[in-house]
Amino acid sequence: MSCRICRSDNLIKYLDLGSTPPADDFLTTSRLSKPEVYYPLNVYICLNCGLHQLNYVVTPEILYQNDYPYESSTTETGKNHFNNLAKEIVQKYNLNSEELAIDIGSNVGVLLEGFRKCGMNVLGIEPANNMCEIANNNGIETINEFFSDNLAHQILMRKGNAKVITGTNVVAHIDDLHALAKGLEILLDEKGVFVFEAPYLLHLLENLEYDTIYHEHLSYLSVRPIAKLFKQFGMEIIDLEEQSIHGGTLRYHIARKNDYAVNKKVGEYIELEKSKRIYDLDYLKKFAVNVEEHRKKLVWLMLSLKKEGKRIAGVSAPAKGMTLLNYCKIGTETLDFLTEKSRLKIGRYSPGTHIPVVPDSELLNQMPDYALLLAWNFADEIMKNNSEYMARGGKFIIPIPEPNIIG
Ligand SMILES: [Zn+2]
Repeated sequence: MSCRICRSDNLIKYLDLGSTPPADDFLTTSRLSKPEVYYPLNVYICLNCGLHQLNYVVTPEILYQNDYPYESSTTETGKNHFNNLAKEIVQKYNLNSEELAIDIGSNVGVLLEGFRKCGMNVLGIEPANNMCEIANNNGIETINEFFSDNLAHQILMRKGNAKVITGTNVVAHIDDLHALAKGLEILLDEKGVFVFEAPYLLHLLENLEYDTIYHEHLSYLSVRPIAKLFKQFGMEIIDLEEQSIHGGTLRYHIARKNDYAVNKKVGEYIELEKSKRIYDLDYLKKFAVNVEEHRKKLVWLMLSLKKEGKRIAGVSAPAKGMTLLNYCKIGTETLDFLTEKSRLKIGRYSPGTHIPVVPDSELLNQMPDYALLLAWNFADEIMKNNSEYMARGGKFIIPIPEPNIIG
């Protein structure tokens, strides 16, 4: 195996989360009696460029094209975030209406809807056929494919160059990062920009967000290796912005070299990463020990609540929750059910742990004593929406970074 950015084979494993089924593969009743496929979940660091990455790649066709259940428009926080992102990009780069904005991994088209409101022409690229269909039905033209340099050529012929290309939570999912960079180089207009957002590795490590590690996330991104990736293709990071969504996300602005002045933040982040030792094997081994400790604490808390005869449910069923449940081996002996807003998950069972997924309203109907909040990045919004549950005496457990009982 070689590094997806620098092709070096100087990769060292520092974290082993065992094996899990794909985190978004929620099971229908008829699949419960059939065997599930488990894939290894191990994180490596490239000692050459610093990219943190999984060594095992689950075929994208397995991960994305079969009833992919993640709809980016299910939370208010998410919708606002995408609307603001579109507006901020249009203002920052003085984009004109009628210019083309392309979103890679566009899901149901929430971000593109934002660009369209600003008058831009939009095009989505989305491998999940169900998401693609929803987007097209909503009038957001969306191509049902994986992004690559080949597809970039086809789009160029049909639509011309793009002034802006975006990708939110998609770069970390891409195995062939060189094909991504080549595709951008083909499609971007003069002074065009690629703006992407990805969970920031520094926060993952500092806040023990190990549950954000699952097979869809092939890379755990940070500034130093990203700079290295684009440098190989004549591009550079021109700006960085931190966002609070998803437990700490970094927004990268990429352009061809010398098209824009480079914000001094880029150098500052590279220094920060060095001072925090996130490329240092000793530090990463300590992180792995802390992950193991966290599992013990959470399991102990669950066991002691069950011993007291308490009823516990899970609130929300995000992909990250599936890593947490599978790694900590928390299943139906502990959680009665998981609640979820997404109609694509309701009526199904969690991968690996087989916990039934029910509508949000079941939390009040069944009033478990404790609710394990799996989408902790949306904790404020979820607790606000469930204030009645707390008013009636229900308590939330926020699992990350330390198991914490609220209420
Ligand atoms: Zn590397």
